[in-house]
Amino acid sequence: MSPTLFERIIAREIPSTVVYEDDDYIAIKDIAPKAPVHLLVIPKKVSTRIDEISDAAEMGRLWLTAVKVAQSQLADYRLVVNVGAGGGQEVFHTHIHVLGGWDTG
Ligand code: 5GP
Repeated sequence: MSPTLFERIIAREIPSTVVYEDDDYIAIKDIAPKAPVHLLVIPKKVSTRIDEISDAAEMGRLWLTAVKVAQSQLADYRLVVNVGAGGGQEVFHTHIHVLGGWDTG
């Protein structure tokens, strides 16, 4: 399998603006923001879509990381996950969208 777009971003083969990173997750600015602040929180462990994650601790860590990243930049925010092509997913490597900044511009 060829690496996903986000694997290539994690490997720094494709440039991005990284706002958070630890051993297991990276958060980057979305290249085509749909809000004044639009971040993507991405697990380094590859899964195609979020409903492939069956381990509760792994799922919990992903959401806790998304909340931590969101709270580092925003007081109020929206967390969104597109699941499958019919759900609007375009990049098939699990990620959570963090959207906000409408109140602060
Ligand atoms: P999805 O529709 O899969 O839930 O969201 C994929 C997101 O990835 C989209 O919001 C899109 O703008 C973003 N995206 C696509 N290509 C790139 C890229 O090369 N760099 C970054 N930073 N974001 C990207």
